[in-house]
Amino acid sequence: MELKDTIRAIENYPKEKVIFRDITTLLKDKDAFKKAVDEMATKIDKDVDKIIGVEARGFIFGAALAYKLNKGFVPARKPGKLPYDKLIESYELEYGKDSIEIHKDAINPGEKIVIVDDLLATGGTSKACVDLVKRLKGEVSSIVFLIELLDLKGRETLKGVKVESIIKY
Ligand code: 5GP
Repeated sequence: MELKDTIRAIENYPKEKVIFRDITTLLKDKDAFKKAVDEMATKIDKDVDKIIGVEARGFIFGAALAYKLNKGFVPARKPGKLPYDKLIESYELEYGKDSIEIHKDAINPGEKIVIVDDLLATGGTSKACVDLVKRLKGEVSSIVFLIELLDLKGRETLKGVKVESIIKY
């Protein structure tokens, strides 16, 4: 089974001329979901301390990877969702502007962190997460994506950070 064949393309979603890569078709297939998590796990250094998952689809892969690799899991969330003291970073995204938050005590200085999300588009979301980790004096070991949209050149936004992806369009 090819992982790429389990991802559905939705044309003109969420707006005209965008092809949305729908991963729900991968997730509902037990073999595809397992293969995706297993392949992402091979890209993660064994000595990292924690995995950050980016709301919302990054939670799915990030939590599965944290469990598999026996690491702590940290959620990076949309504004207003976290209950305790937090840091916020704003960023431009493919379809507008948004912000992401993390708890101030989620990462200890010097910890090695992997950021996980389902898809790399412009890289804005991940860059904001990198900046949150830096503000907490953590070290970003790498960012691991299931999917990378090559045309949008997210790697340029993320230059200086190790970027890994499993499926490329
Ligand atoms: P970026 O910040 O890199 O431009 O956008 C990446 C974020 O938008 C990720 O959190 C990702 O979940 C979401 N995203 C953007 N386009 C798509 C898409 O086509 N499919 C999926 N599954 N997520 C997308």
